[in-house]
Amino acid sequence: MSGPVIRLVETSGILTRSNLPVCEFSVNPYTGCTHGCMYCYASFMKRFSGHTEPWGDFLDVKYWKPVRSPARYSGREIFIGSVTDPYNPQEAVYGRTRAFLEEMCGSGARISIATKSDLVLRDLELIKSFPDARVSWSINTLDEEFRSAMDRASAIEARIEAMRIFHEAGVRTTCFISPIFPGITDVKVIIRKTAGYCDLIWLENLNLRGGFRMQIMEFIKREHPGLLPLYEEIYMHGDLSYWENLDTEMQMFAESLGLEYLTNDDTMHRPFAAPPVVVNYFYHERIKKSARRCADA
Ligand code: SF4
Repeated sequence: MSGPVIRLVETSGILTRSNLPVCEFSVNPYTGCTHGCMYCYASFMKRFSGHTEPWGDFLDVKYWKPVRSPARYSGREIFIGSVTDPYNPQEAVYGRTRAFLEEMCGSGARISIATKSDLVLRDLELIKSFPDARVSWSINTLDEEFRSAMDRASAIEARIEAMRIFHEAGVRTTCFISPIFPGITDVKVIIRKTAGYCDLIWLENLNLRGGFRMQIMEFIKREHPGLLPLYEEIYMHGDLSYWENLDTEMQMFAESLGLEYLTNDDTMHRPFAAPPVVVNYFYHERIKKSARRCADA
């Protein structure tokens, strides 16, 4: 198989104002993502890039005009990797994420980085130099077979090892258990495995609103036919009870481990906590409303 289509592109700026609750600005040094996750929420970016290749098979490498007065961003929250993985394999060649970090080094900006790679280890010292830096790794399975069916990113053990090294170096780390595949993702074993290496654990449900819905349903039908009725209940009939039950179960599980359990806490820069705090983001608003309806009934 030939590699992805790579294009070098010039952009006016690299910092974009963000409406994400966790940051004020977002930075994506690439358009596209060669990790090519089957469930990628960012695949809508393809529409804006003019690419016709399948998601995961192209990458635009961005070269931007220098950031004007990086010190203006002192204390501001910048999220790196909202619609790409800033440590995709091509970062080892083009170094655009590193270029951004070098440009902002000493600015006082507060950065958060989301990745599925251990390549981020290369930049540990640089990342550590930012105040309150945070790095999160998405992990939704410990099973390499399922992982490799879903993405082309680093092996799970490599992600966990990177998390451990960052945590021990005093950098804030998040284990982002996302997306949780009903009946497949074993949240408890992931928490047990990573709780010593992170100070936040985020839980997020699989959302099938994107164009990848059909692909995922076909995967379940082919590989996990016994789970198909459950997926149809959730994704075709809108049944939230799986998430409500998992929410209750996870709350009890977290408490049994002595971990604080919160719902929809958007404070990325909450004080470093050991042991980690578990935060649930399952369909937050809808579940809370339905729980309220039940309580009022
Ligand atoms: S790593 Fe993130 S941005 Fe990249 S394909 Fe996977 S979900 Fe999408």
